[in-house]
Amino acid sequence: MKTVLILTAGFGDGHNAAARNLREALELSSPEVEVTVADLYERSYKRLNHLARKAYLGAVRYAPKLWAGFFKLLDRSPWLADGRGLARLQQSLAALIEEVRPDCVVSTYPTYAHLIHGLFRDHCERPFRLVTIITDARSINSVWHRAPSDRFVVCDDATAGVLQRAGIERDCIAPLGFPVSPWFAKAPPNPPARPQPGRRLRVLYVINTGRKKCGKAIDRLLEIPDVEITVTVGRYSELKKKLAKRARKFEGRLHLLGWTNQMPQLLLSSHVVIGKAGGAAVQEAIAARCPMIINQVIPGQEEGNARLLEDLGAGAVVNGKKEAARWVRQLAEDGGDLWSQWRARLEKISRPDAALRIAQLILDECDRANHCSRPEKLPACPAINGETGASESGARFRPPARLNRRTAQPLLCDFHIHTNYSDGKLTVSEVVDFYGARGFDCICITDHWTDSRRLIGKLSRLTPFTLSYDQIEEYFEVLAREARRAWRRYEMLVLTGLEFNKDGPTRKSTAHLLGLDLQSPISPRLDLMETIQRIHAQGGLAVAAHPHIMKSDWARDSLYLWDHQEAFAPVIDAWEIANRNNLFTPVSLRRLPFLANSDFHKPKHIYSWKTLLHCEKNADAIKSCIRKNEKVSITLYRREEKQATVAERLHQWEQPRLPLDRGFSTAKRLAVSTAR
Ligand code: ZN
Ligand code: ZN
Repeated sequence: MKTVLILTAGFGDGHNAAARNLREALELSSPEVEVTVADLYERSYKRLNHLARKAYLGAVRYAPKLWAGFFKLLDRSPWLADGRGLARLQQSLAALIEEVRPDCVVSTYPTYAHLIHGLFRDHCERPFRLVTIITDARSINSVWHRAPSDRFVVCDDATAGVLQRAGIERDCIAPLGFPVSPWFAKAPPNPPARPQPGRRLRVLYVINTGRKKCGKAIDRLLEIPDVEITVTVGRYSELKKKLAKRARKFEGRLHLLGWTNQMPQLLLSSHVVIGKAGGAAVQEAIAARCPMIINQVIPGQEEGNARLLEDLGAGAVVNGKKEAARWVRQLAEDGGDLWSQWRARLEKISRPDAALRIAQLILDECDRANHCSRPEKLPACPAINGETGASESGARFRPPARLNRRTAQPLLCDFHIHTNYSDGKLTVSEVVDFYGARGFDCICITDHWTDSRRLIGKLSRLTPFTLSYDQIEEYFEVLAREARRAWRRYEMLVLTGLEFNKDGPTRKSTAHLLGLDLQSPISPRLDLMETIQRIHAQGGLAVAAHPHIMKSDWARDSLYLWDHQEAFAPVIDAWEIANRNNLFTPVSLRRLPFLANSDFHKPKHIYSWKTLLHCEKNADAIKSCIRKNEKVSITLYRREEKQATVAERLHQWEQPRLPLDRGFSTAKRLAVSTAR
């Protein structure tokens, strides 16, 4: 087994994207690799980091000149050289290395090489290989290469040249391309053909900042005939709601997507993309051979990315929405000349498989690390002596994935979870890591799914933000992919589900129904009985969500199913006896089959009611256990430390006793935050 630690940071978009893509490529390349992704800024400074990130975004948006000045200062200043002032960061890095014991550390953010250099001053005492992935192109800051690394991976020969001129040996530099998602290496189902009159030009519009004006920009583009636009609004769900009217008006020509995991497919099938000059964004466009119109550049940091595209002659950098529309019009109306030129230039340098090639380099570096004789225990670092306690016993902390619970122990489950595909705060993969790190055995993701016709008028206010028709296929695909990863990494089952929101004007006419373990989408337009039939036809479970009166003020009651029990009790597989902190005693008084769920929307909702099942860990056994409703218990999940003791008391966990206690506290210590 090879162990890789990828370090990243949430400033700018390139670092996290690179980290996430490399993890995926490594896991695709070898079954024998264990990858940990960590953002130490998040771990060490949490609140401060949040503020710093906000300040960064603010500076970039409102004071770009100031930011450019700071960027230059950073380039010249030696303050980073020994990581001074970053002591806390260095401590947590030391603790993390002690925990993970990597064969290879991969850094996608420049500070980490400096911190590592501070911890292991002598190059040969460092017991792992270090690979730095430089996420910027051309105008790279010297912070990236002032500290030593075994390998520097850069995105092209020109950037390699910059490093060489700065004194880095040629052998250490690998111009393998930017690690875009490995899915770019897959041929698209409908690649764009040369634009011609009468054929639609497909424009992808990625919205990051400048959200106020984007409505007008979209209108301007829609004035051009034969243009079809797909807009991605990322996490700005408010904006999506705002643009929804336009999408209905221009149905077929304007598609609206929220946060999406399908960027590779979108880029591969678009003629041109409009967006900001982020390191990852420009590199993804190049990988997809999709010409780019850049409508925003952060001074300093992103100038190199914009220049890269201009030097290639494969796109345009514009100022204002008029100019962007002018370029799009030319692409649509000149018979495909300009587009074909841009495209041909991109073909020459596109490296869609870069992540897979870098993954191979990392795996090779792991082998090298294993050839050297490794000390049993890492040398004590002066910075952490007596501070973190991480090295106190020399015992290796194990991630909770390795707990290897016996089947005799109950499965910890949560069957009602929302992600940012509807109104949840976390992405699917964040939810998986969040529950996985806490030792859960089975979760079901159930985003809101609503008949859009019911969203009209007054009701729209009452209905929560819901999955969109355009993304339902993607939702199933992403969940299937994440389920595979969850099993590999945490031995946790992830089921696909939906929460069918049938909202009426009153609480008595409102029903929320969960479909658990679905194989394919079910239309939200069917009535309740028909929906339940379809769920059962797929082998899934139909569960009544929060079926009784709730005590908390955040929620609206949904009593329709309860009031029509004679009809529904025979077909519903289980009723929520608890939803988050609400307990519904009538469910037990009526002796109905039950479940307890979080109705998870954000991290703090984890502290709520959960289900424990005494059965084998596979989907069929779990479903049959719920249907029979024997050996089902509920538990109130509280803070992790308390949870361990409560669980032990309640369920007489078998020997060895160590893992639970240790596991939960380790889960908290680890709190591995994953790249977004
Ligand atoms: Zn609900
Ligand atoms: Zn819900």
